[in-house]
Amino acid sequence: MSGSTALPTSRFHSVFVKSLVFSSIFLPGLSQAQDDFANVVITPVPAAGNITMLMGQGGNIAVSIGEDGVLMVDDQFAPLSDKIKAAISSLGGDAPAFLVNTHWHGDHSGGNENFSDQATIIAHDNVRARLTDPANSRVPESYPVITYADGVSIHFNGEEIRLIHLPNGHTDGDSAIWFTGSNVLHMGDQFFAIRYPFIDLSSNGNVHGLIRNLNNLVTRLPDDILIIPGHGNLSTKAEFVTYVDGVNETAAMVLDRKAAGLSLEAIIEEGLPAEYEQWGTGFISEEAWITAVFNSPNL
Ligand SMILES: [Zn+2]
Repeated sequence: MSGSTALPTSRFHSVFVKSLVFSSIFLPGLSQAQDDFANVVITPVPAAGNITMLMGQGGNIAVSIGEDGVLMVDDQFAPLSDKIKAAISSLGGDAPAFLVNTHWHGDHSGGNENFSDQATIIAHDNVRARLTDPANSRVPESYPVITYADGVSIHFNGEEIRLIHLPNGHTDGDSAIWFTGSNVLHMGDQFFAIRYPFIDLSSNGNVHGLIRNLNNLVTRLPDDILIIPGHGNLSTKAEFVTYVDGVNETAAMVLDRKAAGLSLEAIIEEGLPAEYEQWGTGFISEEAWITAVFNSPNL
């Protein structure tokens, strides 16, 4: 339940500015941001096969380390690049040869320019479109050099690594990265474990697209796959199913009430079931989730 009387948009916006865009776009290089990053520790979490997850600050990273070298998925914030390189080195890896961005947000692509002297950056067409937009103030060294519309496979370290575009969910440029031999999937920010996800409406994210993407993907996954969320802990398929079910159920509640004529304020006041209380304790509050669902255009 939500007892707040604050305007949902203002509360959402303050959370958004504070946590997400903060160091990616507006503050890199400022001393306060540098101090914040100075204390970040990059922690390797073994997944399966060739794949290790790296947790630090920002979106989770996946690294594939093997006989062909290193492929990395996402790179957190630019001030963390040296620590990330050190973590890869501690795992026996060299500089990444390939860097994949799950989407354009700065907590996932902020370090691009610090890896691109050695790594070929690969991402969906719309990631490049965002990063090259002068409004986002990114340098050319951060731009993906190989892009795709629907997906592409990289054959590396003895397995097929599938980059699968998931349209208009979290943004309009998200991909899931499926390490088919290692049996590990990096979901990017279409999966917050287990919290309400962020729908970036200003980047053409949409709850209807998110639901379609999740429901299409979940039926294709082996039961023993491990899943790296954009944010949160390494997860089992059962945990991912719990997340998908909760997104389906809570979004349907909001959309049903909207269809019945309730205002956004009334739906926020009524709130979502108590069993979902934990879901609103992360980056996205219950109020922010309801607001994003309510404001998603029909696709
Ligand atoms: Zn994101």
